[in-house]
Amino acid sequence: GYNDFTAQAKIDAEFLPVPDASLAGQELKFLTAQPHLASTPEDHETALYVARKFRAAGLETEIVPYKVLMNQPRKVSIEAHSDDGGLLVIGPSWEHVSDDAFQDDSRIVMPFAGSSGSGDVTGEVVYANYGRLEDFDKLARDGVDLHGKVVLVRYGANFRGVKVYLAEQRGAIGVLIYSDPQDDGYFQGDPYPNGPWRPDTGVQRGSVQYLFKYPGDPETPGVASTLDLPDSARLDPLKTGNQPSIIAIPISSHDAAPILRALKGPTVPKGWQGALPFSYHTGGSGAFTGVTVHLVSDQDYELRIIWDVIGKVRGSQFPQDWVIVGNHRDAWVYGAADPCSGTAAMLEAVHGIGSLLKQGWRPKRTILFASWDAEEEGLIGSTEWVEQHGHALDHAVAYFNTDVAVTGSEFGAEAVPSLKQFLREVAQQVPSPQGGSVYMHWKLDSGSENRESNSLRGSKSGIDNLGEAPVGDLGSGSDYTPFFQHAGVPSTDIGSRGSYGVYHSVFDDYTWFIQNADPTFEYLQEIARVLGLEALHMADADVLPYDYVAYARAINASLDAARHKAAARSIDFSAAQSAGARFMRAAEAARMLQTNLQGKSQAELMRFNTILRQTENQFLSQAGLPNRPWYKHLIYAPGEYSGYAAAVIPGVNEALDARNTDLAAQQLALLTQALNRAAGMLEQAR
Ligand code: GLU
Ligand code: ZN
Ligand code: ZN
Repeated sequence: GYNDFTAQAKIDAEFLPVPDASLAGQELKFLTAQPHLASTPEDHETALYVARKFRAAGLETEIVPYKVLMNQPRKVSIEAHSDDGGLLVIGPSWEHVSDDAFQDDSRIVMPFAGSSGSGDVTGEVVYANYGRLEDFDKLARDGVDLHGKVVLVRYGANFRGVKVYLAEQRGAIGVLIYSDPQDDGYFQGDPYPNGPWRPDTGVQRGSVQYLFKYPGDPETPGVASTLDLPDSARLDPLKTGNQPSIIAIPISSHDAAPILRALKGPTVPKGWQGALPFSYHTGGSGAFTGVTVHLVSDQDYELRIIWDVIGKVRGSQFPQDWVIVGNHRDAWVYGAADPCSGTAAMLEAVHGIGSLLKQGWRPKRTILFASWDAEEEGLIGSTEWVEQHGHALDHAVAYFNTDVAVTGSEFGAEAVPSLKQFLREVAQQVPSPQGGSVYMHWKLDSGSENRESNSLRGSKSGIDNLGEAPVGDLGSGSDYTPFFQHAGVPSTDIGSRGSYGVYHSVFDDYTWFIQNADPTFEYLQEIARVLGLEALHMADADVLPYDYVAYARAINASLDAARHKAAARSIDFSAAQSAGARFMRAAEAARMLQTNLQGKSQAELMRFNTILRQTENQFLSQAGLPNRPWYKHLIYAPGEYSGYAAAVIPGVNEALDARNTDLAAQQLALLTQALNRAAGMLEQAR
């Protein structure tokens, strides 16, 4: 266990050689052989394959179906004209490069946005840069009215659903989201097939659900969409605030370029110019923006069946305490990096656990491996499963996620503060394909530049890194969200990252992967090993390895920052600060106990572990965050205006950002109560 280092080292030494690079490569090849959009027959085939692998390793395995609302496109079209009537674009044009073995399959879904509205609209175009709050504010200050307009935004800086949300709020009738070559195309490096970056015809598909309100089946927030759920239990998702009412269409830079080139009005503000070879204009506030588009989006909304695959290794001592390892399986098209690299890595972790099982080993706690479906449409498979298991997760000890597991050689991670050090220690135990440990390279790489530009989510590293390898905070965009921010299960998310310009396009295929990401599959093996050790160490720990000192440090730093932001407002932070200080003292005392377990009986250890785990639950609020009650965690949430990046103490910070002093004070009081509850819980340890 955590304290019985020799026993743990023996198990580690038996586990680590088993995850196999070339087997991971074969698994990746199978998983990427066909397009496997959620709920299609090909997706079901991948579920059967994963179930077979789980069973072969000795896991008790079930395929868990849900019936959920999802759209598939019947028709998507775009036609753009300049103000003299000249035809600029008829599209979308074909996603195509000079040479790729996978690009011509008839099952490739046309580029579309999950959760897009249906409709047939015509409007003038306005360019809004990344579609951030500050971009829309800038247009408003410049007198550009978006009512009845189609907003053209580029990918990057925030979650695409946020772009649509802000455009809808400002009266736009449609949104075109394109990939500017500055952000993930030739401006970064050679496009595929010569390099890893996005070719000009490549399109980033993706969900535009308002996941910052809640993820999952849009009609069943908080409720599992099991097959027997009556239709009468379903809500109208336009009323519950998870779906846009307007049209959103993702397009390539090839189709965006003629539109952008023909836009009139002033040249764009600083920072809005991309890498297309002309000067960008916003369309301006004049009588005519220069371009009119006719958009058709015909979306087939149906209740569709999806399949999670759950494999279980029953714990010998604490079977009710679950350690969950998860990764999604569905892809927009082939999904070599996203998510099949994660699935292949998880299957090799399962292979390693299976080999331990065959030698008669059993974990103390139950380990569950989960292959989620319909993550791409909005974390649906994981969210429905979490909603189904409700209180059983109150004592789940950890959720370990990997999604885009491998796009290159730089290890990166996000986690709850209490597991950041745990993750660093696990990474010290795993050899890197470059020699030395994963941890050593992780720390070295973090000193070098351009991590930010390589990261999809742009998530900032946490404030508590103190000269260690950086572990970021959990925002959203993958399946840890229901576990952590809804159910309060301490979570981590890992991946080995590199240049990746083909995200959500047809070109995220096996050929791209072996040319650009991991030709020898050694990084798949690396992620399999890290995931496996995370599960093994957590399942067998005598005392749970949560570091509440790091948590207290992170919270207190956020409180300080919020207090500075609130400076001129009459909000009293003193009660919150004393609660934070009390939590820190309790955390320090608990840490002393965690490192000195001599003479503790089994019953005392169990009691201590319960206290350690229940401390995290004290950060949950039954009422949830203002305007988004599904999000129960008071310390971390996806940012309302970022979607991917984390908001820390979101209730307080978002009220301050909205200049709502009363709400900020009220949220601060709730946070203070939560900190006192958490401190009170830890103080019971002895
Ligand atoms: N990974 C998906 C994306 O980034 C998640 C979508 C969602 O959460 O709605 O598009
Ligand atoms: Zn993914
Ligand atoms: Zn994805």
